[in-house]
Amino acid sequence: MQVLRTLDNLNFDNSYARLPEHWFQRGAPKPLKHAHLISFNPRVAKHLDLDPCQSHPDQLVQYFGGHEPLPSSSALAMKYTGHQFGHYNPDLGDGRGLLLGEVINQRGQRWDLHLKGAGQTAYSRFGDGRAVLRSSIREYLISEAMHGLGIPTTEALCLLGSEEYTSRLGMEPCAMLLRVSQCHIRFGHFEWLYYSKRHDELKQLADYCIDRFYPDCRNADNPYLAMYQVIQAKTASLVAYWQAYGFVHGVLNTDNMSILGETFDYGPFTFLDAYEPDHIANKNDDAGRYAFFRQPAIVHWNLACLAQALLPLVKREDLEAELETFMSQFEVQLLQRRKARLGLLNNHPDDAALIEKLWGLFKQNRTDVTRFFSAISDLTSEELSIQNLTEFTQTSEQNWQAWLEDYKQRITLEMASEPIRKQQLRSVNPRYILRNYMAEEAIREATQGDYRLVNQLLPVLRHPTEAHHHLQRYQEAPPDWARAICLTCSS
Ligand code: AMP
Ligand code: MG
Repeated sequence: MQVLRTLDNLNFDNSYARLPEHWFQRGAPKPLKHAHLISFNPRVAKHLDLDPCQSHPDQLVQYFGGHEPLPSSSALAMKYTGHQFGHYNPDLGDGRGLLLGEVINQRGQRWDLHLKGAGQTAYSRFGDGRAVLRSSIREYLISEAMHGLGIPTTEALCLLGSEEYTSRLGMEPCAMLLRVSQCHIRFGHFEWLYYSKRHDELKQLADYCIDRFYPDCRNADNPYLAMYQVIQAKTASLVAYWQAYGFVHGVLNTDNMSILGETFDYGPFTFLDAYEPDHIANKNDDAGRYAFFRQPAIVHWNLACLAQALLPLVKREDLEAELETFMSQFEVQLLQRRKARLGLLNNHPDDAALIEKLWGLFKQNRTDVTRFFSAISDLTSEELSIQNLTEFTQTSEQNWQAWLEDYKQRITLEMASEPIRKQQLRSVNPRYILRNYMAEEAIREATQGDYRLVNQLLPVLRHPTEAHHHLQRYQEAPPDWARAICLTCSS
C-alpha cells in the first residue's frame, strides 16, 4: 500500500546539489506578490507520494509561491548553455527557474521539482526570471495533454497566479509553475562544459547521468557512447510522436532538448489544426527553422551538437556512425505510430505506400488530422466510405475513394475483430488535443480571475480519447478566429 506524505514531509534526496558548486547557484525563489493557487494536479502528486487531500492551497502557495522553503529541499539555479536558432550562446541560462530538489518515491523513482518563474538568478542576464500567466497556463495544460496522448513530456504539479506584473506583450500578470520530471538535464548542460573546455567535469556530468538515468550503459565497452545511443533512440521516438500527431514545438534550441527524450520547455508550441507541413508555430522564427516538417532534421542537428560535446569521451567515428542511423530510426518509429493510428499492427510490404498516400491527401486537403482519425475510430470497416467522411473528402474525392478501398483491403489482413479494432483505433486517436484557441480561451478567462476553464480542461486532456459531454464543443472544428492567434517566444 502506498503511504502518502504531506508537503512538509516529502522524501528529498538532492543529488544535483552535491555536484560541483559552480554548476549552479543556490538561492531561494523570490516570493510572488499575492500568490494564489490556480490549479493542482493530483495525478502528478502521485509521483511524489504526495497526498492530494492534505495538499492545502495555502500550503501550496506558501511553498511554491516562494514564501517559505520546502523542508529538506535545496533550491538552486542550474547553469547551462546551448545553440539558439543555430548559434552557440555561451551566456544562457537556467530556464528561469529553480530546481527545488529531487523527491524519491516508494517505487524508487527520483523526481525533480522545478519552480518555473521563480525570479532573478546569477544566470538571468537582463531577464527578470519571471514567467507570465499566459505562457504558464499553456505549459500547465500542454503537459497534461501530452501525457494524455502518451507522448513523453515534463509534467506540472500546480500553477499559481499573482498580482505581480511584468512587461512582455504589454504588462502581464506573473505566475509560477511547479514542473515535475525525472530529469532537468539538457543537451545544453553538456555543451556548456564542452565549450568552456572543462572536460574532466564533462566526464563527471556524463557519469552522473549514467548513474542516475542510464545505469545499464555502465556495462558497455564505452558507457558514454552507449548513453548517447539511448538518448538518440529516445529522441527519435519522441520526434516520431510529434510528427504523427501534428505537434510543433516552436523553439527546438539545444537548451530545450532533454536528455531523457521528453518534450521539454514549452513556448510557442502548436498542434496543427489543418495539416500544413510548413507551419511555423513561432512568429519570431522568420526563416521557419522550426517549421513542423523540419523537426526531424532539426532534432538530428541538435543531436549532432550533443555528439560534438561528447567528443572528449567518445571517438568521433563512433558518434558519426550513430548519427547516421538517426533518420532511419525516426522513420521506422514514425511509420509505426502512423500505422497504429489506422489500427494496422501487422506488417505488410505496401504499408509505407498506403501511409504516404494518406498523408499526401492530408496535405492536399489541409485536413484536420485529429478530427479525421477521431471520425474513423467511430466507424466499422463496413462504414468506411466517402459518404461517412464527407467533411474530409470533398476535394480529390476520387483519390480518397481509391485510398479507402486500399485501406479496407488492408484491414482484412489484420486479425482483430471489429469491436477490438475500434478499441485499438480509439486508444491512439484522441477526441481532444490542446488546440491553441482552447488555451487562449482558458487564458482569457484566467486573466479575468476565472480559473474554471483551466480546471475543466485538465481532466479532458488527461483522458483525451474519452467523451466529455460538457466540453463536447472542443471536438468540433476550431472557430475562424483561431487562425489569427499569433504566438511568439515572449513568455
Ligand atoms: P526559452 O527560449 O524560453 O527557452 O529561453 C531561453 C533561456 O533564456 C531560458 O531558459 C532562460 O535561461 C533565459 N530566459 C528567457 N527569458 C528569461 C527571463 N525573463 N528571465 C531570466 N531568464 C530568461
Ligand atoms: Mg528554454
